[in-house]
Amino acid sequence: MALDGRVAIVTGGAKGIGYAVARRFLHDGAKVVIADSDEKANTVAAEELADFGEVLAVGCNVAERLDVHNLLAAALDRFGDVDILVNNAGIVNKANFLDLDEADFSRVLDVNLKGAFLCGQAVARHLVDKVKRGGPAGTIVNMSSVNAVFAIPDQVAYSVSKGGINQLTKVMALSLARYGIRVNAIGPGSIMTDILKSVVADAAATRKVLSRTPLGRIGEPREIAAIASFLASDEASYVTGQTLYADGGRLP
Ligand code: NAD
Repeated sequence: MALDGRVAIVTGGAKGIGYAVARRFLHDGAKVVIADSDEKANTVAAEELADFGEVLAVGCNVAERLDVHNLLAAALDRFGDVDILVNNAGIVNKANFLDLDEADFSRVLDVNLKGAFLCGQAVARHLVDKVKRGGPAGTIVNMSSVNAVFAIPDQVAYSVSKGGINQLTKVMALSLARYGIRVNAIGPGSIMTDILKSVVADAAATRKVLSRTPLGRIGEPREIAAIASFLASDEASYVTGQTLYADGGRLP
C-alpha cells in the first residue's frame, strides 16, 4: 500500500476534508494522528476511524505553539516517529473588507497561516533530524484553496491566508529540498463540508457556485483525500513546491 508503515499527522482531522484524509491514509496503510481543536468531535472521529487502522486523537489548537509542541510529542510517544504532516485545519469568516474586525482578521490568519507555519516548522525540524541520522525523508501537504488565486470580497482574511499558504508552501519546499523533504499544497474548489455550508447557505448561493464550476457539481472530501495520498506518497517523489488545484475546473 502507498503509505505502508508511515505515520501521519492530519490537523483539523475531526471533520470534513481532514477526516477524509485521515480515513484515506489509514486505508493506504499509514498510522494517523488526528489533531483538532474540537476535542469532542475529534474523539468521536477517532472511534470511527479505529475501524480502518491505528489512530490517535490529540486535542490541539494549531495556532498555539505549546499545543503544537504537545501534538508532536504525543505522536512520537505513541508511534515513535512522524513521516507526514497534512496542514489542513482552517476556518472562515464572512465579512466585507470595510466591515471586517481586526480580531476576526487575526483569528483567521492565526489558524490558517500561522498554524501551518507552527506545525510545519515543528514537524520539519523532526524530519530534518531524521534525515541527518540517515533516515528517510518525510513530506508535508498544506491545504490551500482556489481562493488563494480567486479573491472573494467577503472572504478577505480567508483569501489572504490561503495566498500566504501558497507562498509558505514554496518557501518551505525550497528550504527543505536539500534534505529531500517535499512540501506541496492542494487548492480545493467547493467541497461539501461544514465550511462550505457556512458560506454557501442557500439555493441561490449554490447556483452561483455551480455556474462557475464547469464540472457542474460540488466536490467530495474523498476527492481531496485522494490527492493528499498521492502527494504524500513516493508516487509524487519528484513533485515539490506545487499547489495542485482540485476545483471542477473553477472559473474566476
Ligand atoms: P471543516 O469545518 O469541515 O473542518 C475543519 C476542521 O478544522 C474542524 O474539525 C475544526 O474543528 C478544525 N479546526 C478549526 N480550527 C482549528 C484550530 N485552531 N486547530 C485545530 N483544528 C481546528 O472544514 P473543511 O472544509 O474540511 O476544511 C478543511 C481545510 O480545507 C481548510 O483549510 C479549508 O480552508 C480548506 N478548504 C475547504 C474548502 C471547501 O469547500 N470545503 C475549499 C477550499 C479549501
